[in-house]
Amino acid sequence: MIFNGFSIVYYFFLLFSFPSPETEVVVEKVDPYVKGYFMFPLSPGVQTSLSGSFGDLRVNHFHAGLDIRTGGAEGKSIYAAAEGYVSRIRVMNGGYGNALYITHPNGLTTVYGHLKEYASNIKKRVVAEQYAQETFVLDIYFEPTDLPVKKGELVAFSGNTGGSGGPHLHFEIRDQEENTLDPALFGFKEIKDNVAPRVEFVSLKCLSADARINGEFGTFDYPVTRTSSGQYVINRNIDVWGDIGVELYAYDKAETSPFRLGLKYIEVKNDNVSEYKFELGKLAFHNKIDMNLHTNYERMVEQNKKLHKGYFEEGNEMDFYTYNAKKGLIDLRDSKKHRIEIKLKDTFENTSFVHFSLNSNANQDKSINSELRGGETRKVDIRGPFMKIIRKKTDKSFYLVDGNFSKEIQPSYENATEQVFVINLKESYFSSFMDGQEIVPSPVSEEVSQRFNTVFSNSFEIDFKKVLYHPIYLNLEDANYELRLDKDVHPLRGRFDVKWKRPDKEEEKNKVYLIGGRRSRYVGGNWDNGIITFHPKELGTYGILKDETAPSITPRTLNASNLSFTIRDGLSGIKSFECHVDGKWVLLEYEYKNGLLWSEKLNNEPFKGEVVLKVTDNCDNEKIYKTAI
Ligand SMILES: [Zn+2]
Repeated sequence: MIFNGFSIVYYFFLLFSFPSPETEVVVEKVDPYVKGYFMFPLSPGVQTSLSGSFGDLRVNHFHAGLDIRTGGAEGKSIYAAAEGYVSRIRVMNGGYGNALYITHPNGLTTVYGHLKEYASNIKKRVVAEQYAQETFVLDIYFEPTDLPVKKGELVAFSGNTGGSGGPHLHFEIRDQEENTLDPALFGFKEIKDNVAPRVEFVSLKCLSADARINGEFGTFDYPVTRTSSGQYVINRNIDVWGDIGVELYAYDKAETSPFRLGLKYIEVKNDNVSEYKFELGKLAFHNKIDMNLHTNYERMVEQNKKLHKGYFEEGNEMDFYTYNAKKGLIDLRDSKKHRIEIKLKDTFENTSFVHFSLNSNANQDKSINSELRGGETRKVDIRGPFMKIIRKKTDKSFYLVDGNFSKEIQPSYENATEQVFVINLKESYFSSFMDGQEIVPSPVSEEVSQRFNTVFSNSFEIDFKKVLYHPIYLNLEDANYELRLDKDVHPLRGRFDVKWKRPDKEEEKNKVYLIGGRRSRYVGGNWDNGIITFHPKELGTYGILKDETAPSITPRTLNASNLSFTIRDGLSGIKSFECHVDGKWVLLEYEYKNGLLWSEKLNNEPFKGEVVLKVTDNCDNEKIYKTAI
C-alpha cells in the first residue's frame, strides 16, 4: 500500500461514485484534545520538567505518555487530572509498577504509573483485595460508583516502582479504544518547550545492490553543522547512485529538561517533492513493537542510538507514514544534483530543517578506502538482504553456487588493491561461493520468509511464522552445545518457537539462557524426552545452564509492626515468594530492582508468632526462612 488508508478510501469513492446519498459517510471530527479539561497531576501551576515525552523512541515501543520528573524524590502528591472514577488498579513487578487508572465523563482515561503508593481510601481497597486473593500482583476493575474522584483530589504518591529507571510519574491519556494520546496536546501550561528539534547526524544508506555513496556500498554518517539561522546543513560533497535511504539521529529538546525527547513529524523532500512523511498520532498497543522498524534496530541494539528512518520499512503496521512508490527510498539514477530537505517538528510545532545536496553520479571516485585489515584476504558483511564480499584484488573467477546452479559474477567495484561484490540475497540467494578454486559456505544458512518460515535441522526446529515482518537472512547453527541463532540485529514481532534436542542434559534444573552477554539471561523452557522447547524474543546465542542454588534471604526489619527482607537469586531469578505469620498469609510488596520485600498489613494487629518466608527461583530451588516474633 503506497498511500495511507484515507487516500485508498477516497479513490474508491471516485472510481465507483455511488449515487445514493445514504452511502455518504459523514465522519464527525471531534477534537479529543480539549484544553483545560485536565489539570496537571503533579505540582499543578508550577513549571514542570519532563524526562520523557510522548513518542520518545524506547526499546520495542514509542513512549506512550509523559515522564514527569519528581526532583529525584519519591512520595510527591498525585492529583486526579479531572473528575471521574478509579476504573482500574494494576500492581505489577515490572512495567508500570503500581498503576492507577481514572476514567472521566468525556470517555478518556488517565493513567498514573510507577507509584509509590495509593491515597489511603484507595490503598485500603487494594490491600483488602490483595489479602482476599493472597497475591501482591493484582489487576482489578471498579464500577463508577466504587471510587469516584473529584478533579484535583489526592489519589496517590509518586514513586519508582516497576520498570522505572528513577523516581518519576508516568502520565498517560487513553481513549475508549485504548489508544494513547499525547498529553502535551491538552494545553498544560506547566509544560514549556520553545526549543526546536536537534539533529546530530544524517546517515545515508545504500538500499539497492547498485547503490553507491562516494564510490562505496554501505552506510555512512554525516555530522551536521548548525548555521547562524539555527538550521542544519551537511558541508560535504556527496556523490550517490541507486536507491538511497536517509536516516537521522535527531530528538527534541526543551529549555526545561536535559533529556532527549520525542519527535512528532519528519518529512524528507527531494527537490521539493515529498518522498516520505512521518506524523505521529495516537499509539495503539497491539502493534507497538513495530517501533523497531521505525528505528534502525541494529544500531539501537549495538550502539544504543535510536535513529529515525526517513523511509518506510516493510511490515510496519503503524499508520503514521506517507511515502513515494519506493517506500520513501530516494531513486538517484539521473546524473543530476538533488537538494534534500528534512523537516522536523515537535509537539509544539517548533521546527528544524536539515539541508544538503546529493550528486547523482554513475562514475564515482575509484580511490575508495581499503576495508581489509592486515592479514585479511577476504571479509563478508551482511546488512539486511545485502551481502558485501571484499577480497584482495585478483584475476580469479567468482561464482555464486546454490545446489547444481552456479553463476559467475563480476566485482561490483574495486580500488587498486581490493574487489567488492555486492549481492542482494532477495534476488540471488546462494548456499556457497567459489572464490577461484576455493569453495566457501555462505555465512547465511537460511532464507526465512512467510513461505519458508520454519527451519529444521538434526538437532533443532525453529518456527518464525508469527514473528516475521519480511524475509530475513540468518545463520543458524548448533555448535559446541550452543544454539547460535544469528545476532540480535533483526526486529521480530514477538516470541518465536524453538525446539532443541539435548539428550546429553538431564532435565532437572537445566534451563535455557541467552548467553554471551555480560550476564546470562534466563529464558526457561520445558523438557519433553530430551527436547527442550523455549520461546525467545530475540536472536542470539542460547545455552543450557543448571541452577541448583536456592535464593538468598536476608532479614532487614522484623518486629510487631514491620517485616522486611532482601532476596536475591544468582542465575535463574526469583519466581515467587510467600510469607506467613502464625499461619496467616501476609502481603509483602516487592521491588525487584533492589530485591526488597516489605510487609503491608490488612489491619493494625501486631505481627506475633512464627514468621515463615518461602522464596522460589525459576528452577524451583526453594529457600525457607523461619523465625519467631
Ligand atoms: Zn514513562
